[in-house]
Amino acid sequence: MAKIGFIGLGHMGAPMAANLLKAGHSLTVFDVTPVSLAGATVAASLAELVKNVDYVVSMLPAGAHVLEVYLGDDGLLAHAPKALTYIECSTIDVATAKAIHAAIEQKGGVCVDAPVSGGTASAAAGTLTFMVGGSDKAFAEVKPILEGMGKKIFHAGNAGCGQMAKICNNLLLGISMIGVCEAFNLGKALGLAPQAFFDICKEASGQCWSLTQYCPEPGIVPHTPANHQYEPGFMAKMMLKDLNLAAGAADSVEAAMPLGDKARDLYQAFCDEGGLDKDFSGIIEWLQKQ
Ligand code: NAD
Repeated sequence: MAKIGFIGLGHMGAPMAANLLKAGHSLTVFDVTPVSLAGATVAASLAELVKNVDYVVSMLPAGAHVLEVYLGDDGLLAHAPKALTYIECSTIDVATAKAIHAAIEQKGGVCVDAPVSGGTASAAAGTLTFMVGGSDKAFAEVKPILEGMGKKIFHAGNAGCGQMAKICNNLLLGISMIGVCEAFNLGKALGLAPQAFFDICKEASGQCWSLTQYCPEPGIVPHTPANHQYEPGFMAKMMLKDLNLAAGAADSVEAAMPLGDKARDLYQAFCDEGGLDKDFSGIIEWLQKQ
């Protein structure tokens, strides 16, 4: 079993770390806010965390935090006493992910970008989907560790490809959620019962995950945020962050994404008008008011 340092014990990181413990690994954890995890050692700093581990897993809010943790003066690479294997699971921009890969490889270490899909419920259940960017050798090395936290582990390609897959997936998710919301709102305005629309659409060509698994209309699919006043779940501000990542990525390669840009504008307006901490499917109510 591996000696693992885990950084960032937030909504996602805490249950992921707990699952690594359950899988039998020994864990040292660090967060900038005080944390505890039964069975794990808490490090007082990144320097202390890297002293006695072979692997590092990080689950941080955004690219700026990842840069500070890895490349900062008090960061991991400044203090690691030997070459380690790093598994960076945060959702961040491709350029930062590639910069982290390059810095680690220059020091002889191994790195994968491994963002996740699935949210807090999957993190707790150990059923996350991982999208991994890195060499074949790195993927083979980290896969058994990722299997302690997830069910589906995909090798997306080389450095940065995990983030590319995650950003493109969430671009599609943001657009499809708005489409499902608009369809429910139009149907209701025309006099069509939401349940009748759902029963038909889930068997017809408009069917998608935002409809069948995460339906934004209340009272149709059990256990969705729609049934709990749009308590997250996946916060609208996180969706906005991911659509901004998609916009930055599209700019970097001059790719057109007119619907993605529109989805980003709509999520920005929803966030500005009170939706920030609501589930992203709550945009159905905001759209209805427009
Ligand atoms: P979070 O804010 O709950 O957790 C982040 C943790 O990182 C916090 O505990 C914070 O204190 C810690 N942190 C921040 N800066 C740090 C530093 N310099 N050193 C050490 N710790 C530091 O966020 P989350 O919801 O757990 O999301 C984490 C990542 O996972 C994000 O990139 C997010 O986009 C992605 N993600 C989230 C979800 C979700 O449903 N929440 C789903 C998929 C992916």
